[in-house]
Amino acid sequence: MARYTGPVCKLCRREGEKLYLKGARCYSMKCAIEKRNYPPGMHGKTRSGRVDRGSDYSRQLRAKQRARRTYGVLEHQFRRFYGLALKKRGLTGLNLLQTLELRLDNVFYRLGFADSRAQARQLVNHGHVAVNGIKSDIPSMLIQVGDVIEVREKSRKLEFFKEMADFAEKRTPALWIDRDLKNFSGRVNRLPERAEIDGSLDEQLIVEYYSR
Ligand code: SF4
Repeated sequence: MARYTGPVCKLCRREGEKLYLKGARCYSMKCAIEKRNYPPGMHGKTRSGRVDRGSDYSRQLRAKQRARRTYGVLEHQFRRFYGLALKKRGLTGLNLLQTLELRLDNVFYRLGFADSRAQARQLVNHGHVAVNGIKSDIPSMLIQVGDVIEVREKSRKLEFFKEMADFAEKRTPALWIDRDLKNFSGRVNRLPERAEIDGSLDEQLIVEYYSR
């Protein structure tokens, strides 16, 4: 599956806020938002380079881009998720956010087993993760309630995962996942509620963007 391979901090600068895409670095003074919080590019500091131009379209577009970049999803796939959300019962915006949360890479990140979604994605890609006992190397795979996600038996012996156990212990997993730290696994016990999803995302504006 295709993914964004350009400069990551540029995405935060474009949105004018931290999207926490790089793990520990995001909490340090090395963060690009701490050093140059203006849009990227030659005209970043000028009026034409400002993030929000005030129109409805601009706000809707920025809301959609922020969500897309937060979860590391390209436009084509984001639109596909929106299509899935539309088909489900209930609020389309909430359905969309829940769908994004249930991506395998995000669930692995929410378990506290990776310090960013990008790292979780890489670990999944490299075949270290299993879903219901079966190796799953597709980060965009959608997890269902009741599914068990785990680090594969042979991967647990790697130095990286031994260190990761200490790291994960300090991180609180999402409330909608039961984590079993000893066995490097977790079970999705229910769908995430809105209050448990990033509050800076505006799903209403995203729905408006795709409803134009
Ligand atoms: Fe964004 Fe993290 Fe880069 Fe800061 S360090 S700009 S939060 S990705």
